[in-house]
Amino acid sequence: MKKYNAFENVQEQLKEIKEIIGLEDNIFEQLLKPQKMLEVSFPVKMDNGKIEVFTGYRSQYNDARGPYKGGIRFHKKVNVDEVKALSAWMTWKTAVVNIPLGGGKGGVVVDVKKLSEAELERVARGYIRAIQKIVGHDIDIPAPDIYTDSKIMGWMLDEYEMMAGRHMSGMITGKPLNLGGSKARGFATAQGAAYTLDLAVDKIGLDKNSTVAFNGFGNAGANLAKILFDKGYKIIAVSDSKGSTVNCMGIDIDDLIKHKKTTGSVVDYKGSETLSGQHCMEQDADILIPAALEDYVNEKNVESIKAKLIVELANGPITNHADKILNKKGVLIVPDILANAGGVAVSYLEQVQNAYALYWTEEEVLGRLKEIMETAFEEVWQEKENYQTSMRMGAYALGVKRVAQAMRDRGKS
Ligand code: NAD
Repeated sequence: MKKYNAFENVQEQLKEIKEIIGLEDNIFEQLLKPQKMLEVSFPVKMDNGKIEVFTGYRSQYNDARGPYKGGIRFHKKVNVDEVKALSAWMTWKTAVVNIPLGGGKGGVVVDVKKLSEAELERVARGYIRAIQKIVGHDIDIPAPDIYTDSKIMGWMLDEYEMMAGRHMSGMITGKPLNLGGSKARGFATAQGAAYTLDLAVDKIGLDKNSTVAFNGFGNAGANLAKILFDKGYKIIAVSDSKGSTVNCMGIDIDDLIKHKKTTGSVVDYKGSETLSGQHCMEQDADILIPAALEDYVNEKNVESIKAKLIVELANGPITNHADKILNKKGVLIVPDILANAGGVAVSYLEQVQNAYALYWTEEEVLGRLKEIMETAFEEVWQEKENYQTSMRMGAYALGVKRVAQAMRDRGKS
């Protein structure tokens, strides 16, 4: 079997949408690659006194609609093609939710679980120093992604402002509240997905007694599990990097979050069965929420999926091949570039608050987020109907057409 390559996935998706919407070659050729790709290596002094050299990337995919925007991933498997793919998805995503930003993404090849807190801080500061010339509130604005969080954003902001010699809080989002972060940013990705899930559930007539399975239980996954649990959904399986916990009677998510805080994982949770990670999707869940990495549903496991609805909280969790099989089976997939756009939407709201130095209540932020997500959902659905295609291609039609129009308006066609 051919090894999965996220960027090849992106290019295939782009070719597919080109045919569907009749995109001209002059624009298509420009959208096939990032505008800029920076690779950096930077030294970090480890606690034992030795220097270790880390590799990082920043891909700036397209800025026709505004400054590049996208998270920073700290993971041992980060690579050039993954970062490029994630930056392309960010480009379509910001366009789908119609915020004035482009798409970018960054990453560092690092196993955070092997670092002390002090080493992690030095890696974060080292990376932002290495890419400082190409980021800024009107150039490229980073944010958290896998294994990075608000604390790391705070260190990066501090390092950047020390270099700049002035306050520039809008250069990064997902910051701590005290440094100009936005209320609700911590759970915005999950909350945005919950708004789209509610609409999708209505479209296909599922009810609140539906069962749900999660792959990934970090910022995005655990927050959405909590929101759905509070709404009365029965969560029957949850997996993380160490394995799965499964209980057909339903899992108490508040208690599982406590368990994960104390033990570091969802496995060995009382009253539930512990299985290897891949078993999670084989449960009879009506709704499947991928919330970890790319290539989760692929040709090896797609046939075992029983869900009627998949909401992609993770970026790129389903390969193109598996996506086609699921569409044929009639599974409704709310695609990543819509489903998880709540994070970047509130990041944008954070930037607006930074620009005005005026801060909104959680209620105000959530009101705006709800409106952004519900509008985007209906617009994507409209495109799906217009082109008689999947929701994914409906979202691509909406996003790619908006990016293409901005390029034409700039005379880049
Ligand atoms: P996180 O670091 O908070 O959590 C990642 C989770 O994935 C952890 O529970 C980890 O144990 C689990 N995981 C890692 N490898 C796994 C494996 N092989 N099998 C099962 N679980 C595994 O990261 P996050 O911010 O929650 O991001 C998760 C996904 O959501 C990513 O695809 C990310 O790009 C996407 N996303 C996040 C945001 C955001 O605002 N945080 C926004 C949009 C999209």
